[in-house]
Amino acid sequence: MSQTRREFVKNSALVAGTSILAGRSPEALAKTYLDAASSDRLKLTFSPYTLELKHVFTLATSSRSTTPVVLTQISYGALTGYGEASMPPYLSESQESASAFLSRVHLEKYDNPFELETILGDVDAIASENPAAKASVDIALHDLLGKIMRQPWYNIWGLAKDKTPYTSFTIGIDTPEVVRQKVKEAAEFKILKVKLGRDTDKEMIETIRSVTDKPLCVDVNQGWKDKEFALEMAHWLKDRGVVFVEQPMPKSWFDEHAWLTERSPLPIMGDEAIQRLEDVPRAHGAYSGINVKLMKSTGMREAYKMIVLARSLGLKVMIGCMTETSCAISAASNLSPLADWADLDGALLTKNDPFEGMKVIDGKITLQDWPGIGVKKI
Ligand code: MG
Repeated sequence: MSQTRREFVKNSALVAGTSILAGRSPEALAKTYLDAASSDRLKLTFSPYTLELKHVFTLATSSRSTTPVVLTQISYGALTGYGEASMPPYLSESQESASAFLSRVHLEKYDNPFELETILGDVDAIASENPAAKASVDIALHDLLGKIMRQPWYNIWGLAKDKTPYTSFTIGIDTPEVVRQKVKEAAEFKILKVKLGRDTDKEMIETIRSVTDKPLCVDVNQGWKDKEFALEMAHWLKDRGVVFVEQPMPKSWFDEHAWLTERSPLPIMGDEAIQRLEDVPRAHGAYSGINVKLMKSTGMREAYKMIVLARSLGLKVMIGCMTETSCAISAASNLSPLADWADLDGALLTKNDPFEGMKVIDGKITLQDWPGIGVKKI
């Protein structure tokens, strides 16, 4: 790293520290400077964490009450960036696979923490899979850089803080009584997301419609296996105030989705079929839009690129999540002013969130002013 850049990074770290230390003696500040300057090597640490869910979460293909995550930290001088890998079991990553991957990431070899393209490119090249583990490095690094620059990422990206969308709130598959109760608990939210893909789909929608007329979006999670049926359902759902349909059929069925998208009265969004940047061109023609998630995209940097590419292809964009702590949710929320729709309720579905970050106020994604991704450890 050049002397100038090294000084800039150290001085920025010092200034970031002083905002916390306002009112301290010159001696204390001098010590802080020494602490900040004592190490200019990136250091990655990580630990497993079990996120407990408020309700048993049922999708078309599985049920569970916890989500395994791995929490990461990247320290640089006196500053620390936070990150997270969230790994719902059906996505084939685990705390073990993420830990094994992260133990192969050696950030101390980089002089300049701003070289995201190089650092994250090298991390990506370690193995072909592990997108959530890769995201946990990307998010922590973004958090750290934002803290060095003393800016939240929505500012760094040039996005208006008040242009965040409303987030949907997910109603899982359950008995009619529980579904009605969940809808009542979701009073604050302006749009609800309903998980479909079982033989009770119409009953689910009718149950929800018996207690609310709010707009709904539906996520089938690949549960429908017939394009004619999917089209029939799209018409039926449109008549009941549904806004879009997410991943109605299996992820490999591009031709069937193209057939459906051409005829459907509702936008058809690709989720499982569209994981990373290289998948986005394939969405063009097959889907109306894509659901971008940090745990699929390997983090914020590639998610941003996916959104820009999707826009250039005329695709709609939603930004979604797994069940995650407020760490990864806040990271994604910084991108949400670029999205048509957001589904960032993941932290609200958990009981033991170790972070404070983005808040949902009257259903709207409300970003913190804090530097980085906008989180504090509780
Ligand atoms: Mg989905």
